[in-house]
Amino acid sequence: MFCVKCGKSLPGQYNLCHDCTLEPRDGTRHCPSCGAENPKAVQRCAACGTRMPKQKQLRRAPTVQARRRKKAAMLAFFLGVFGVQDRYLGFHKRGNRRMIQFILSVAAMIVLLIALRVDFSNAIVNGGQWNTAYADSHAVLWFLLAGLFAAGLISALWVWITSLIHGVQLLVRKGQVDAEGNLLE
Ligand SMILES: [Zn+2]
Ligand SMILES: [Zn+2]
Repeated sequence: MFCVKCGKSLPGQYNLCHDCTLEPRDGTRHCPSCGAENPKAVQRCAACGTRMPKQKQLRRAPTVQARRRKKAAMLAFFLGVFGVQDRYLGFHKRGNRRMIQFILSVAAMIVLLIALRVDFSNAIVNGGQWNTAYADSHAVLWFLLAGLFAAGLISALWVWITSLIHGVQLLVRKGQVDAEGNLLE
């Protein structure tokens, strides 16, 4: 939708921006549907035929400070794995989900790495000699631990890459809204 007075783009449900005031005799010039400016107050938009809203049909956008896309994108790029950009935009659950997945993945990787190292060093006896029997009986375990480590790595990378993609989307895509439905600046 567009502000019927100044034509500024607004999120879905609003047709008057919070910077504009509209007296009945000001008339509504900009079409809320297509944004086209009509030469004078009209019943219907000359460009698309949409009926212009009456005074009581005006819905003013809330007077909140619009959150900024660029700032959200920078947060996504540098702190995205902790969901900081989501929380900035008011999407707390999504931000927490991102952060928890990342922290759990990294923690699992560290634990698995320590377990691997400890058990691996058990296979080396008497200053550098390789204990073949021990190694043979633990090979499956090592494979398992290495596999789980890889899964943790993929999970952590997934959070990181999706955060970067989110950052790029924030930079290039217009018309995005925050959790309260306010258009990002
Ligand atoms: Zn306006
Ligand atoms: Zn129109």
